[in-house]
Amino acid sequence: MQSRSLVGKTALVTGSTSGIGLGIARSLAAEGANICLNGFGDLQEIAALRAAIEHEFQVKTIYSNADMTQTSQIAEMMTQAQNEFGGVDILVNNAGIQHVAAIEDFPVEKWDAIIAINLSSAFHTTRLALPSMRAKNWGRIINVASVHGLVASAQKSAYVAAKHGLVGFTKTTALETADSAITCNAICPGFVLTPLVQKQVDARAERDNISNEEAKKSLLSEKQPSGEFVTPEQLGALAVFFCSDAATQIRGVAWNMDGGWVAQ
Ligand code: NAD
Repeated sequence: MQSRSLVGKTALVTGSTSGIGLGIARSLAAEGANICLNGFGDLQEIAALRAAIEHEFQVKTIYSNADMTQTSQIAEMMTQAQNEFGGVDILVNNAGIQHVAAIEDFPVEKWDAIIAINLSSAFHTTRLALPSMRAKNWGRIINVASVHGLVASAQKSAYVAAKHGLVGFTKTTALETADSAITCNAICPGFVLTPLVQKQVDARAERDNISNEEAKKSLLSEKQPSGEFVTPEQLGALAVFFCSDAATQIRGVAWNMDGGWVAQ
């Protein structure tokens, strides 16, 4: 426990009640960081997640139910982290949603929600986290983008636009912090089997009248040459690496972990 690299640091992970965010939060906690969880879900389940992290990794946690579409709630969450832990040292902008539809059928309110949650919330958390990172002259900002921040797929216009925007925002943040010990990078996962992707698996199983397992294989075979899902634990390990001293000069990159998706 004593050689853990992030003892004394605080990590805020948006959208960490599930999936990739939870995996990254657990990996950072395993290195000793205190954790600010955020996201939606059953309050008893969230309390159990917090208890498990605190017990397993001997760290402190807090939870905010701030809705990433609401600027005032994001500000309250950042104030809560400041009051509880004296600021956020590691900010992981991970909250995100997906909607799949052709542009001419795309519900306008879904477009607005995806841009707000997947892109604009990262601007708000970053602008509010930077002053305390600058005061301490240390910080790590990790934006969970996607392969869809690098390449497009049909039917995912809002998601692709938001994730390309997030990769761009990552580069600007990296430039504005380049003369400090604050770094900003993006992680671009391929398919990870979380509730967000399970919905796409379910839709495909229904559309093609195939089993859940066949739908998973079919989805992967279209895009991900390894034929295997990326895991939240693998993404958590990459986040921990970005927090290390070895990664100090990695700035403004969009690092894909995608089973070969973007190599094609
Ligand atoms: P998930 O659905 O398992 O988790 C999403 C999290 O975001 C949950 O904690 C949810 O409560 C939270 N959330 C949703 N709307 C919110 C809001 N308005 N305010 C606050 N929190 C909100 O999804 P996931 O697959 O773990 O996705 C996490 C991130 O990873 C997303 O940004 C997603 O775009 C990205 N990503 C996922 C995949 C994948 O294959 N699953 C691939 C590439 C990128």
